[in-house]
Amino acid sequence: MPDSAAGHQVAADGPVRVVFGPGVRETAADEMRRLGATRALVLTTPQQEAEGREIADRMGTRAAGLFTAAAMHTPVEVTEDALDRLRALGADCIVAIGGGSTTGLGKALAYRTDLPQVVIPTTYAGSEATPILGQTEDGVKTTLSDPKVLPETILYDPEMVLTLPVAMTVTSGLNAMAHAAEALYSPDRTDESDRLAVEGLQAFVTGLPAVVAAPGDVAARAATQRGAWACGTVLGRVGMALHHKLCHTLGGAFGLPHAETHAIILPHAIAYNARSAAAELRPICTLLGGEQAGPALHRFAAGLGAPLALRDLGLEEADLDRAADLATTKPYPNPHPVTRGDIRALLQAAWAGDEPIR
Ligand code: NAD
Repeated sequence: MPDSAAGHQVAADGPVRVVFGPGVRETAADEMRRLGATRALVLTTPQQEAEGREIADRMGTRAAGLFTAAAMHTPVEVTEDALDRLRALGADCIVAIGGGSTTGLGKALAYRTDLPQVVIPTTYAGSEATPILGQTEDGVKTTLSDPKVLPETILYDPEMVLTLPVAMTVTSGLNAMAHAAEALYSPDRTDESDRLAVEGLQAFVTGLPAVVAAPGDVAARAATQRGAWACGTVLGRVGMALHHKLCHTLGGAFGLPHAETHAIILPHAIAYNARSAAAELRPICTLLGGEQAGPALHRFAAGLGAPLALRDLGLEEADLDRAADLATTKPYPNPHPVTRGDIRALLQAAWAGDEPIR
């Protein structure tokens, strides 16, 4: 990975230009110039308006306007408002500053306009590295994959994750690890996807305890961002299974928060699939210690203070039957056979915050 003149590390990754380094957010206008773009619509959430405005100000005339209404699960009505704004401004580029919700809005705009995207991630969700777009219309979330959606440039600036509260740091990191964990047993995995998955897991196994101990440690934050890139990239390259299916169901049908749900389900889904894919999941045991990947992840999450029980996210016990039904109606590839009874038992344990069932 060569060092650029500015001291930032540039990773060439096929069609995506990826730059790592403290302060790299300040190069957004230069990155637009590389893309031949002159007027960006800058996106963020209401909560991150100040950060969005600061970066837009640094971009000078290349920031044509700021749109601060990005929201979880990419509601189509928000995308339509942003599209109106983008057209009114005559924007020729999208700059997204935020987590998966803001990146999702940028991707939804790129899907409709084919404009280039520069993403400055502020969580570890990894959406910036995938050609996948999830959108919600009339309460129904659908997912598509299209090369138009894959951002052209990612600027991983560790100073942008310094403000991520510790609790979100932990859940967002576990969300990223879930992409890598499921990649290990994906039917379309390759040597390269295995390598990326292990690299991503390793970055969080060492990086998460370090950032929890010292949230302002820029070097530790930078290490976790490399993990986010590896985990996001692998999510975009190979198919996911039970874990992502369960989280999609719980988020879509019961409105549970994205990263927290991933954090709680991960040890349970991995323990479930270890019944048929123990060898594939071996790297998790190697990284975390122990003989069983699911319990090892449970101990790791508990040690970081992660939420462990779906009931603490507001899910009612009475909803578990419907959740089990929804998660098992349509068949999908999974290493261990998916039965309604076994999934109901998994959900019960995850709801109560129990040890994962092996
Ligand atoms: P998010 O983007 O919804 O952010 C959650 C909240 O944290 C927001 O209020 C946000 O403004 C705030 N926030 C983000 N970064 C912050 C920071 N550094 N400091 C302070 N506050 C900050 O959360 P997320 O978990 O990153 O994204 C979840 C969404 O991303 C979901 O809709 C999920 O489906 C999607 N996603 C998509 C993909 C994909 O490949 N398509 C991958 C992962 C996640």
